[in-house]
Amino acid sequence: MIDKATLAANFAALEARLAAACTRASRRRESVSLVAVSKLHPPQAVRLAWELGHRDFGENYAQELRDKHTALADCAGLRWHAIGPVQPKNAKYVAKAATVFHALERLEVAQELSKRRTGAPLQCLIEVNVAGEASKAGVPPLEVPALIAQVRALPQLELVGLTAMPPLEEDPERSRPHFRALRELAAQHGLQQLSMGTTGDFEVAIEEGATLVRVGTALFGHRAEPV
Ligand SMILES: *Cc1c(COP(=O)(O)O)cnc(C)c1O
Repeated sequence: MIDKATLAANFAALEARLAAACTRASRRRESVSLVAVSKLHPPQAVRLAWELGHRDFGENYAQELRDKHTALADCAGLRWHAIGPVQPKNAKYVAKAATVFHALERLEVAQELSKRRTGAPLQCLIEVNVAGEASKAGVPPLEVPALIAQVRALPQLELVGLTAMPPLEEDPERSRPHFRALRELAAQHGLQQLSMGTTGDFEVAIEEGATLVRVGTALFGHRAEPV
């Protein structure tokens, strides 16, 4: 597992790149939130990051989120972001543990989340399949308006934005048109939050308006493969 000094250095290096990207884009640094993606890293790595002052963490898998939420319940102020699509039967874990859900793509899941959520409404972003990839999560752009209307009718969900996970490319510039399309779609629907950009392309995402960047590898190092 990563040690605290390495993690601190990774945060500092990433922070410098985030600040530089914001400057290039004439944006305030506070307009972009960093979600530290901790999936497949042990809870202790999250605890180290929390001790360093970081508060927003992203998890892909509902059961892993449930387990880390329990293991780190004593970390005051820690906010969990569920960033991967979830099965209806696992929605209860997201409803209980998450502050923000970035990967809403099915009405059935939205209904289950709203039913299970107690307390403050769950902030949700609809994941859009921006590149029209057959194997990819997310809603086709043409189906987004209908889902937006349905989600807005659910009492315990607060629709705040859209998410994109474009195809993984060597060249981050190839993500730019997808990020731009997501920004335009969000603007059409009055949605403020744009969750886009990972280790490989967060700088381009910031230039295109990202308000939430989801960065894992640049902070925690390489992950084991999911089992
Ligand atoms: C794993 C993951 C990330 C983080 O990717 P890195 O390349 O490690 O920064 C971001 N978003 C989603 C949806 C992911 O699954």
